[in-house]
Amino acid sequence: MKITISEIPEEGIDIELNESIALESAKMVSPLHAVLNIRTIGSEVLVSGTLDGDVELQCSRCLNAYTVKVQAPVNIVYEPSNTLNKDEHHRLKSDELDIGFYKNDTLDTEDVLVEQLLLNMPMKPLCSTECKGICPECGADLNVTSCNCSVSEVDPRLKVLEQLLKRKE
Ligand SMILES: [Zn+2]
Ligand SMILES: [Zn+2]
Repeated sequence: MKITISEIPEEGIDIELNESIALESAKMVSPLHAVLNIRTIGSEVLVSGTLDGDVELQCSRCLNAYTVKVQAPVNIVYEPSNTLNKDEHHRLKSDELDIGFYKNDTLDTEDVLVEQLLLNMPMKPLCSTECKGICPECGADLNVTSCNCSVSEVDPRLKVLEQLLKRKE
């Protein structure tokens, strides 16, 4: 949804969105749902609310796909990109607010939501905190099977060395 900033009324607007979004790094398995309040303070646009959506991720340990519900608060101040005034930044900048930029009097809510969604995606996706991962020797999924590689018997000091060698490659 594209919003023309000069048309936002003084009292602001409340919108509810269900946008089908294509991500590069993950697959959305539901439309991205968001409830937003958008209002202007001078030339700045304050977007606040919440977003949620189901995202399919790949577990970083076992490499299986799994679905996770991403929920996040949205609190962003958008400033016109043509007036990069550093003093003004300091005025509004606080820990709770993110700063973004808009141009041509337009705010694209899809950009807003994708950005916030990506920021709130797990850095190291895990299908479960108990995920045992795959065996580095034979590739077996240790959640569903066990193997005879006995990786656990490797001396932890040797493992450190192994990682150092890997990094050099
Ligand atoms: Zn896993
Ligand atoms: Zn194995």
